[in-house]
This record gives sequence, C-alpha cells and structure tokens, in this order.
Amino acid sequence: MGTGQLTIDLDALIANWQALNAFSDDRVETAAVVKADGYGLGAGRVAKALARAGARRFFVAVAEEGAKVREALGPGVEINVFGGHMRGDTDMIHDLDLVPMINSLDQMLRHVEALPGHRFGVQLDTGMNRLGMEPAEWQAVRGIAEEQSLTIVMSHLACADEPDHPMNPQQLKTFKAMTEGLDVPRSLSATGGILLGSDYHFDLTRPGIGLYGGRPFEQAHPVAHLDLPVIQTRELAAGETVGYGNTWTAEAPCRIATVSAGYADGIQRIMGPMTAMYFGETPCPIRGRISMDLIGVDITHLPEVPDRLSLLGHRQGVDDLADNAGTIGYEILTQLGHRYTRRYAGG
Ligand SMILES: *Cc1c(COP(=O)(O)O)cnc(C)c1O
Repeated sequence: MGTGQLTIDLDALIANWQALNAFSDDRVETAAVVKADGYGLGAGRVAKALARAGARRFFVAVAEEGAKVREALGPGVEINVFGGHMRGDTDMIHDLDLVPMINSLDQMLRHVEALPGHRFGVQLDTGMNRLGMEPAEWQAVRGIAEEQSLTIVMSHLACADEPDHPMNPQQLKTFKAMTEGLDVPRSLSATGGILLGSDYHFDLTRPGIGLYGGRPFEQAHPVAHLDLPVIQTRELAAGETVGYGNTWTAEAPCRIATVSAGYADGIQRIMGPMTAMYFGETPCPIRGRISMDLIGVDITHLPEVPDRLSLLGHRQGVDDLADNAGTIGYEILTQLGHRYTRRYAGG
C-alpha cells in the first residue's frame, strides 16, 4: 500500500471529552464542536462516537456542515450553527432541524420571518470583533429574541489560551453585563475557557481542539496517528545530496528512506528541517526538502529497514508539528490530506 494510514483513536477522543466534561460541575453541559469536518478527522464518525459517550449538543460553522452531522446522528441531538441563518439556509435549517446562532439584526429578521417558532441561539460580540451582535444591536433586538424561541446566548473568548490575559476577565464582564436577567442558558467557553475555571463555564461549554488532542488542553490524549510507508531506501556516500534544491548534503555515508507523503497531504515544507519521523521510540530526521508526495528520512541508525514510519503519534503530536511549522495544531489537523487511508479505532 502506497498511501499513509491515518488512524483516528475514538477512545482517546471520548476520553478527552470526558476529561473536559469533568472540569465543570454536573449542571454544566459539555457540547462538542465538530466544525471543519471534525477538525479534519471526519465529522460524522467523531460526532457519532461523542454522542454515544453522552454529548447532546454539537456545533458546526455553517449549515452545510450541519447537514452532514444530522445525517450521521439522526434526530434527538441538537446541532447548532455558529454562522447563523444565511440567505439560502432556510430549507436546511428547517428540514434538518438545525439551530442557527443569530449574529445580527438582519439574521434575526430573516429567521423569525422565514421560520417563526423555530429555535435559535444568539451570538454576542464581547470584544473579539468577529461574529455576533454588539451591545447596542443586542439591546435593540433582545426583547424580540426573548419573545421568540431563544434557546441559548453565547459569546467567544479571543485570548483564552493565555490564562493571564486581561482580555479574559474583560470579556467575562461584558458577557455578564450583556446577559444579565436573561432566562436562557449561557455559553462562553471553548477549550481554553474551560481551563480558566468555573467562572467561565456558565451553562454550556463548547470544546473543540481539546477533544482532538490539541493545546491548550495539555493533558489531552493524542487522537490522530499518522503512519507513512517507506517506498524505497538508498545508501548515500559522503557528499551526496537529497531532494529538490540539494538543500541537504550527507557528511558521512548514510541510509535514506523515501517515504510516501508530502505537502499535498498537509505535511508543510516548512516543517522539514525541524521534524523527525519515528520508528518506535527512535527519531529519524527528515533530510532535504519535503516534496509534494515524497519525503527523505535518515534511517542510518536503525537496525532494520522499517515498513513505515510514524509522523503523528505518542512521540510527536499535532502541536509538535505545529511548532515546527510555525503554526497551531488546529491548522495541522484541518490540513490533513485526503490521500490517507483512514481507519477509526475504538469508539
Ligand atoms: C471553533 C470554536 C469553538 C471551539 O474552539 P476550540 O478552541 O477548538 O475549543 C467554540 N466556539 C466558537 C464560537 C468557535 O468558533
């Protein structure tokens, strides 16, 4: 088999959800964010595993993603859409029973005119300036919303991955002020906010990245495991080079394995010089440039030629790769390519 194997550990995913759920007390509901195809790991399979573990409320970015999750889960769970009620979404929202998070006066009017009585949430902007109603807009429509089928009021923290950032208490204060006296459940925190403590939990939390094994949930179990097949090996003499542009030159005789995967599979070129693949516990450094479909790896020190090498697993996680590429684990996960053979384990 020439393709890499991406194994998604559903038991680890469930353990992460349970661990994040345990951070808040029992009356706080823990939802699951499965946008961007479950952070690249397959929204349908991920959502099913989490529903079996007890998650009852799921969040996606846009209605189209909600359709996929509804197809996987069937009725009986709530699917919320961060992007709200966009023009053209009405049929999907109605037929698939999605709950839009209304972001503006325009969306509010669209929703209550097109689907009177259909449940919705409201997203408030407490300072991030991305999505949601600002205080004045919210003041203007709050009365209408409360008379209609408002199910939840939510906002999102901009700096929750930095626990000491003054933006956190500032947004908390704004959120409290904007939701004072409301008689509907409130939600402020994603993964980072859950870790900030109970002041930030309100009635519902919305973890995403922590479920999938990423920072800032440092104790997370790794969920994505990526093993790449060795296609060929060769012996190099001192002075020979590897890959495009001759960027790496052997200083001594060595053995290079050519592995099947590359930047077309989400393994960014920039991470090459910093990154190793693993044979069991033994790191094997990448040599030369990462190509579209192939990567050179130094296996001189191994006792045997391996069939495959691990890029993601217990020794090296999504955040390690992210650090090597100057990015974040979210981006590594959501860029995992479509050529891998995907296997779901456990669940
Ligand atoms: C993506 C997102 C989440 C989940 O965030 P994580 O940092 O992945 O836990 C929660 N709420 C909103 C509004 C989001 O956009």
